[in-house]
Amino acid sequence: MHPHGREQTLLPPEAQGGRRPDSTAMMCPYCEAVLANPAAAQCDSCLRPLPGKGAPTLRVQFPTGELKVAAGQSLVLGRDAGQSPVASTFTPYDNVSRRHSTVWLDQQGTAWVRDEGSTNGTFVNGERLPPRVDAPLRDGDQLRLAADVAGNVMLN
Ligand SMILES: [Zn+2]
Repeated sequence: MHPHGREQTLLPPEAQGGRRPDSTAMMCPYCEAVLANPAAAQCDSCLRPLPGKGAPTLRVQFPTGELKVAAGQSLVLGRDAGQSPVASTFTPYDNVSRRHSTVWLDQQGTAWVRDEGSTNGTFVNGERLPPRVDAPLRDGDQLRLAADVAGNVMLN
């Protein structure tokens, strides 16, 4: 038996042909991973948006404001109003760089973050990202700039 028992909910191959919208199969239609949470907006495995949820919006909720990014859009986070349209969210924080990170939502509905060579780092769930490397963001992640500027990632 699989240690987590998740494979038990896999449908047999012959049952996969006729997926209907009302199917109760709890499986990603793209990568066929079993979905731990079928009500989620995206697949835990391939990070694609699950069907029937509409186009997702990426939101990051910081104590000083909520940022919103639609599919196909990106947003620079930082303290410099000339570089970041949401600079006012970060002006209270001296440890945030003028151009700190970029978040975006691609056309497939996957959210991403990239550290822009910030002084004090960009963190996802406590892990510091290497500079200028694209990292996926998932619903429920914590995105943190520097030591203490923490935002909650929502993708739905
Ligand atoms: Zn998937």
